[in-house]
Amino acid sequence: MTKTSSFSPIHVIGGGLAGSEAAWQIAESGVPVILHEMRGVRGTDAHKTDGLAELVCSNSFRSDDATSNAVGVLHAEMRLAGSLIMRSADANQVPAGGALAVDREGFSAAVTAALESHPLITITREEVTGLPPEEWDQAIIATGPLTAPSLAEAIQARTGADSLAFFDAIAPIIHTHSIDMDICWYQSRYDKVGPGGTGKDYINCPMDEAQYNAFIDALIAGDTTGFKEWEGTPYFDGCLPIEVMAERGRETLRHGPMKPMGLTNAHNPTVKPYAVVQLRQDNALGTLYNMVGFQTKLKYGAQAEIFRLIPGLENAEFARLGGLHRNTYINSPTLLDPSLALKGRPGLRFAGQITGCEGYVESASIGLLAGRFASAERRGETPSLPPETTAFGALLNHITGGHIVSDDEPGKRSFQPMNVNFGLFPPLEPGAVTRPEGVKRFRGKDKALAKKQATAARALEDCARWLGR
Ligand SMILES: Cc1cc2nc3c(=O)[nH]c(=O)nc-3n(C[C@H](O)[C@H](O)[C@H](O)COP(=O)(O)OP(=O)(O)OC[C@H]3O[C@@H](n4cnc5c(N)ncnc54)[C@H](O)[C@@H]3O)c2cc1C
Repeated sequence: MTKTSSFSPIHVIGGGLAGSEAAWQIAESGVPVILHEMRGVRGTDAHKTDGLAELVCSNSFRSDDATSNAVGVLHAEMRLAGSLIMRSADANQVPAGGALAVDREGFSAAVTAALESHPLITITREEVTGLPPEEWDQAIIATGPLTAPSLAEAIQARTGADSLAFFDAIAPIIHTHSIDMDICWYQSRYDKVGPGGTGKDYINCPMDEAQYNAFIDALIAGDTTGFKEWEGTPYFDGCLPIEVMAERGRETLRHGPMKPMGLTNAHNPTVKPYAVVQLRQDNALGTLYNMVGFQTKLKYGAQAEIFRLIPGLENAEFARLGGLHRNTYINSPTLLDPSLALKGRPGLRFAGQITGCEGYVESASIGLLAGRFASAERRGETPSLPPETTAFGALLNHITGGHIVSDDEPGKRSFQPMNVNFGLFPPLEPGAVTRPEGVKRFRGKDKALAKKQATAARALEDCARWLGR
């Protein structure tokens, strides 16, 4: 097929989940693309093939339930937006209950074939070793968690040493509504209110001596995951896993992240807590709080069990559990504008996991948005941002602005990779969820499900409107 277009090409670097989707969206809008993928010339520590959009680990795109699951909503929005990744996943589905799982080889082959045969896409197998040259006036960096070192160094040189992370040390994040405020209370240590503080910056969970000792015992006995050989040993300053700190001495945590100093239990002011777990507001909406200093290598099941021993967190719902692994990602909230472009270098965008989203579907969706934004600019239009009420918009907003950067630990970056979840969506309007007729007690699980359903329905309606469907 001949390749004709009056526009000059947009360069996409990285043919993974994000770069493949970005290239597709651009080409489908009538703008030519040059996709640079290094596999075939140079591999990564996790990829095993030269296929585009290779799934490096699990073959699951997680829940496909668009009525009450945030990633299911994202699937549905991507299908509405003509996603190549979703089309190829649907065509290569394997049975997996309510999840969308795929035949990984068939999936990657379908993506590769679609991109190779598109008349407006040229694929070059080469490693891009520095920032895109200025003459690539529209470019997208989608090189993923295992970005080749030379490009990573170039990004770091441009953005600053603190702006590129090579590991994520993730503390668990909790949905605010699941925290028991009859036990916990809002207070910053020594009542300090930093710039932009609201007085609700921290939630505190008190422990007496017996509770603290039982908690330390559980941490030490907890089941942990190992590092993969190529991940090295990423323990570094200020990032020791909580269970490693507990092993170093029973009192270590009480003098570290769980110190009770400067805090007074609002429910019991005359009794000093023996230890305190602090939760810090994680997003501007106030719907999520992270566990301060609780980065961990405990297995997911062990984390949920052990952290629910903490007073006030007995029924905690986790938006994400903790982890510690190799991951290259930039400090997007400070570096990127709302259309994913690097501030100070218009036309250079980032997409995929390198922006601080996490997961196959999330990475592909940010690729989809970056592709649409770049193509709009190339065609002389202003990029149209998805409404924040959509899964696209909620994830984009988290990456480019919704996350709260903590100011009480200068120099320490708090932005951590995140899967899409309902905690990222703006709350529903008051009265949006009403008690169904004939139902006397409308709370707990039923009410939580109704809220998710209403949030999902609002997202899909707003997404269809945004896409002009
Ligand atoms: C070991 C591991 C296991 C994972 N398991 C899961 C999982 O089970 N489920 C899940 O949802 N997510 C998982 N993830 C996260 C997963 O990587 C992302 O979800 C997804 O692949 C990221 O998409 P991406 O397009 O941003 O990056 P990738 O899919 O990694 O694509 C980046 C592409 O850029 C290329 N590239 C890198 N540097 C250059 C360069 N300088 N020049 C040219 N090309 C370059 C790479 O070869 C690669 O093809 C895992 C990640 C890792 C590292």
